[in-house]
Amino acid sequence: MKPQTIKHNPKLNEARTPGLMEWLRRTDFNDLVSSEMHSRDFNGSRAEYVYMRVRLLALVFSVLSLLWIPIDVFIVPEDALGSILTLRLAYSGLFLILGMLTWCPQSLGCARLRLSTFVLIPCLFYVGSRLIFTHDTDIETVLVGYSFLPYLTVVLLAIFPLTLIEGLGYASLVGITFLGSEVYFGGFLTISTLGDIWLLTLLAGIAVWAQLAQLHMLLRLYREASRDALTGLVNRRVLNKWLSLEITRARQEESSLSILLFDLDFFKQVNDTYGHLAGDKVLQTFSRLLKRDLVNYNLIGRYGGEEFMAVLPNLDESAAMIIAERIRKNCHSVQTQGSEGHIISFTVSIGVTGLRNTDTTETLVHRVDKGLYSAKMKGRDTVVLAE
Ligand code: GH3
Ligand code: MG
Ligand code: MG
Repeated sequence: MKPQTIKHNPKLNEARTPGLMEWLRRTDFNDLVSSEMHSRDFNGSRAEYVYMRVRLLALVFSVLSLLWIPIDVFIVPEDALGSILTLRLAYSGLFLILGMLTWCPQSLGCARLRLSTFVLIPCLFYVGSRLIFTHDTDIETVLVGYSFLPYLTVVLLAIFPLTLIEGLGYASLVGITFLGSEVYFGGFLTISTLGDIWLLTLLAGIAVWAQLAQLHMLLRLYREASRDALTGLVNRRVLNKWLSLEITRARQEESSLSILLFDLDFFKQVNDTYGHLAGDKVLQTFSRLLKRDLVNYNLIGRYGGEEFMAVLPNLDESAAMIIAERIRKNCHSVQTQGSEGHIISFTVSIGVTGLRNTDTTETLVHRVDKGLYSAKMKGRDTVVLAE
């Protein structure tokens, strides 16, 4: 059979420090615009990050709001005091509830809802306070503690790692509240209101920039912590996380799930004969072969050393066996060139197993490992279905 070459993906080579143009080319702006292409694992981590910050800030605001009561008593006219104190207690209570809620910390949907509530509470408080103070223009100018709320809310959003769409959405929520109340109270086209709008837009722009910078940093750290630098595949930590999520999903949907465990044969000999760098090239070639042959399954990772794992949702054992057998055979038609021009061939042993009712992540992995061990015992370059 004619040897094949598998195209090298330059994105996998992350070792050099990139120049500005290269950095721009590598930065996937779609990742900063929306979360559509983010992995489920990353979304979960980001959701938890937002969850922790919203809870902490909500509890702090709940307390700070009550500490403002003596100032209200001192400066708010008697006829408005009752209403403003009621509003303030509601504001503090809502923040307290938000701070106490512990639902679904890993869900991005819940995190967005939390953050929307976090933005809406001060917005409502702002509108409420304007309704109360509307008849008394003198007091309105004195109460900076109320008029700065939209600015404070927009600036606070800067501490969250948000996508462009999310950031603009939350900033718009504050902007619409502010503009709406300005229109309602008839000050929309005054110089002072236009100045306020300009300031609010400026702060929103800075906040969105800070959110994107945080998201970019988080994505980069996440990728470095979850990807294997040599092959670009995810590492064992992420694989294990994916596997337990997929097991849960397969149970819920009563669907099948199979896993493949690969181990390159006599790999130590490859290193000993051709050198470690040539061994690295073999690992890269094999990982590209896996990506190509499992193009419809993105749950592939480097399990460690010269071992790789693929999680195949909605696939039973017999279908997984066919795929594994195809990959094993395809290794025969792939070659790597060593630094001195040597042509290096390699083979792989593969363990296969499917999810059973009584399985945990550990028992499933243990079984597939036994399958791989049997493949080695049978002489290598073999696929074994673990019983
Ligand atoms: P078997 O067929 O039984 O699997 O034999 P083997 O030689 O492949 O297995 P063994 O566990 O004895 O050796 C695995 C080797 O893989 C040893 C280690 O140096 C090498 N290895 C692990 N990680 C890397 C890597 O990142 N790069 C290179 N070049 N070699 C690696
Ligand atoms: Mg091994
Ligand atoms: Mg090996």
